[in-house]
Amino acid sequence: MSYEVIIGLEIHVQLQTQTKIFCGCSTAFNPDQPNVQTCPVCLGLPGALPVLNERAYHLGIKTAMGLGCQIAPFTKWDRKQYFYPDLPKGYQISQYDLPFSHDGHVDVVLPEGAAGGNGSPDAVRRVRILRAHLEEDAGKNMHDESGRGRDSKVDLNRAGTPLVEIVTEPDLRSADEARRFLEELKLMLTYLEVSDCNMQEGSLRCDANVNLHVTQPDGSKIPTPIVEIKNLNSFRFTEQAIEYEVAQQWESFQKTGIRMGAKGGHKRTVGFDPNRGTTYPLREKEEAADYRYFPDPDLIPVIPKSELLAAIRTEMCELPADRRKRFLTAYQLTPYDAAVIIDQGRAVADYFEDVAKACGDGKQAANWLTQDLQREMKERNQSIVDFPIRPPVLAALLERINKKQITIKSAREVFVSLLADAADQKSIPSVAGIDALIASRGLGIVQDTGAIDVAIADVVARSAKAIADYKSGNEKAVGALIGQVMKAVKGADPQTVREKLLAKLAESN
Ligand SMILES: [Zn+2]
Repeated sequence: MSYEVIIGLEIHVQLQTQTKIFCGCSTAFNPDQPNVQTCPVCLGLPGALPVLNERAYHLGIKTAMGLGCQIAPFTKWDRKQYFYPDLPKGYQISQYDLPFSHDGHVDVVLPEGAAGGNGSPDAVRRVRILRAHLEEDAGKNMHDESGRGRDSKVDLNRAGTPLVEIVTEPDLRSADEARRFLEELKLMLTYLEVSDCNMQEGSLRCDANVNLHVTQPDGSKIPTPIVEIKNLNSFRFTEQAIEYEVAQQWESFQKTGIRMGAKGGHKRTVGFDPNRGTTYPLREKEEAADYRYFPDPDLIPVIPKSELLAAIRTEMCELPADRRKRFLTAYQLTPYDAAVIIDQGRAVADYFEDVAKACGDGKQAANWLTQDLQREMKERNQSIVDFPIRPPVLAALLERINKKQITIKSAREVFVSLLADAADQKSIPSVAGIDALIASRGLGIVQDTGAIDVAIADVVARSAKAIADYKSGNEKAVGALIGQVMKAVKGADPQTVREKLLAKLAESN
């Protein structure tokens, strides 16, 4: 027997608005001052009336467009009724049968080694998006963890924060794919600036529905009971929790053979304990009917104007998936380099693109960004936005390499000097600063090929043994000869020396 892993995700994303979705209270993350960002609306006091925050709807549409979803021409608000201390109204305002958007997809690039993957941006797992709807967040219960107290407290600062809930079809096939999907989603949402996706602050949370399709000897498939893992607040935990559940379900199926829907084969809801790496049972999942959804009589339905949709469309930027593909052809990057640059977020990709355009050499720009810049940023604990060498200056440095005015080694020396001067607040890195350093340190490449020819003739005359070694197949011997010429002509371009030396050796054959 073999099995296939079936995973669908529900992701709650906090939209980046200043105020809550149905009132004017602040959405700032403020756990140290509970219950200060509240008003009669989000406290659920009788008679208080909600009013839709248009910005939240706007950002919701932008999110849906990024997901390639259809925007519904008519959408309404529903009350999802349940009792919980962090929900003072006794219901959550959400969207039930007419969500504001539906039917989109996100493509997840599959890495080399994964089934169907080779790292190319065209080898993807397409994850269909069933729907994306808007709703308000609940408050937060805080339980006494000392073990002595019996009190629990409720903080309603969060209550009424705008969320978009994104529901995927069960198209993911492994814990690794689920993590990659979430990474791609987060990248896209931060590109679109609809959410900061700060998982520590709860701006992105995920529920995972997991089960197995077990292939029988006759080829038929048996689905195991679905388990919903609630409230995963890190990508790593999501991956761990799914792996744990897959192993559990396989073990359990081998023992019992119980299928989804059979007696004892009902859907279960669990939480994940990251300290123990295991899941634990939560309350039994309510069925939709239990919530008694009904249209909220205090809120009018929304019919988006075509002008609004057109305006939001003009705000859309190129999405990471499209950019990854474009970088391959526009800058001749490998899929690996393109992914490394794009996956670090929009600011890094923008920096790269500014340098690549200005110096005309994408490959060189990618090498510097992923090696030299990355290393220095890490050492200085700086983000690309604060990095003192700005794109035009780096581009000028790379241009001098390409024009054979300096060697890569010398360029590194200039790069490090510029950074040291910036750190000591001696000077701001500039193009003039590059040329001053090249001149003062004598780093310029000797363009006088006559001097190189003389040095080569001299070295060849003195190195009969090394030349014999080279000619008998020891390719390394040529390196020592290049070194001698470089020593004789300080500042010679190693590439030029190499070419001229090999030509000389070939003619003496
Ligand atoms: Zn409020």
